Amino acid sequence: MHRERSVKVVATVGPASSSREMLLKLFDAGVDVFRLNMSHGTHEDIAQRHATIREIEHQVGRPIGILADLQGPKLRVGRFGNGPVELIPGRSFRFDLDEAPGDAVRVQLPHPEIFAALEPGSTLLVNDGKLRLTVRACDASSADCDVVVGGEISNNKGVNVPDVVLPLAALTEKDRLDLEFVLGLGIDWLALSFVQRPEDVIEARELVGERNAAIMVKVEKPACVARFDDILDIVDGIMVARGDLGVEMPVAELPAMQKRMIRECRRAGKPVIVATQMLESMITSPVPTRAEVSDVANAIYEGTDAVMLSAESAVGDFPVEAVAMMDAIARSVEREESYRRAIDAGPVLERETVADAITAAAREVAESTDVKAICCFTHSGTTALLASRERPAVPILALTPIEETARRLSLAWGLHCVISAGVDRFKLAVVNAIRAAREDGLATDDDRVIVTAGVPFNQPGTTNILRVAPMDETQIYEGSPEYTRPK
Ligand code: PGA
Ligand code: MN
Repeated sequence: MHRERSVKVVATVGPASSSREMLLKLFDAGVDVFRLNMSHGTHEDIAQRHATIREIEHQVGRPIGILADLQGPKLRVGRFGNGPVELIPGRSFRFDLDEAPGDAVRVQLPHPEIFAALEPGSTLLVNDGKLRLTVRACDASSADCDVVVGGEISNNKGVNVPDVVLPLAALTEKDRLDLEFVLGLGIDWLALSFVQRPEDVIEARELVGERNAAIMVKVEKPACVARFDDILDIVDGIMVARGDLGVEMPVAELPAMQKRMIRECRRAGKPVIVATQMLESMITSPVPTRAEVSDVANAIYEGTDAVMLSAESAVGDFPVEAVAMMDAIARSVEREESYRRAIDAGPVLERETVADAITAAAREVAESTDVKAICCFTHSGTTALLASRERPAVPILALTPIEETARRLSLAWGLHCVISAGVDRFKLAVVNAIRAAREDGLATDDDRVIVTAGVPFNQPGTTNILRVAPMDETQIYEGSPEYTRPK
């Protein structure tokens, strides 16, 4: 089987979607990548969900991506002595390091690094940005603030400090434990929260070391937006994390930032996910609002690789309906001429290598002649990502002998990933590609496909051959001992 769309669907797994039955339904409805959110659930829960996804992958015979999302340095206040407190605009409120229960005039903020970084005039946001305070005076262990926008504050509410680069480690003690744990399970993508600097990515990459996991940066801090280009250079993928980003920056600026990030990611050939509140009302309703449908559609028009569900699939009442809705929106948008026009108006791609040029040529040939699919062989995934960023009008069949590569690539726009036997000659590559295209319904005997590969084989990034192959070519090789079937 293959999906009837190029854009991918990511769904967050949670209590509403952890059973085997539910995960299978979500896959059938259209999920390409499952997100395990390390902010919620015990290691036992996570291991169970991971194992179930891998079982389903085996059952359906298609690679499925798993993205583990680290919580990152999310700041939280301490606890209150007598329940929630109402902060009144114009009044004063104090954050300090004192563990004593909070009251109407103060509460603990157990992060000395913050007090070191705050200055008079800095803004503190509490509870997803609902409350706003301005620092009047501060020292190494406390900050006296004026309440600007009031409201209720209660135990362990989140705090955002948007206009300061915090001298906080990108990975907390919990993150490090979680990272070791999920790498032990085996994951395809590792997402980092609240990244502020390129060094944060480098640190995570060192911890991952030789183990398999592509690294994704969640853009949710102004500092990350400011250094986006440097960060994009050294990371494997980006998440436009609109939830926290919309707290830390003026929410009206989000749409333009989203557009720019999608464009830059496509130019760089690195997968990008648009996330948060995409179908928010479907947490409690079986149908989305019209505005939500438009939001998903617009992200697709902008050329995103993937759209994501958070609470909708993790804790909502209608996880399957939410996935099916994203699938339906994507199929509908991608059928439109206006979609092709929007995609073709994408960024100018710099083409420097032979591989770039061959990949661009493959798109050109596919679109100007009657070719049903572009088939490419890939080890590290580089060649397939080059094909993906071209955003061709025909499906891309990415063949790889490496299971981890197939899983990781399942996030990327347009890639239908197939695990194939390794090939060491171009004619075997052609036969394998044809066979896989036929088995997965991408082309029939009367069609033609394009096959690109690098010869000699097994050297990363050497794509140097483009062949337009008739699908019935298999007959030439059928029965020959050299014929290698894809697994
Ligand atoms: P979260 O990240 O769901 O882990 O908070 C996404 C976002 O902030 O948008
Ligand atoms: Mn977030």
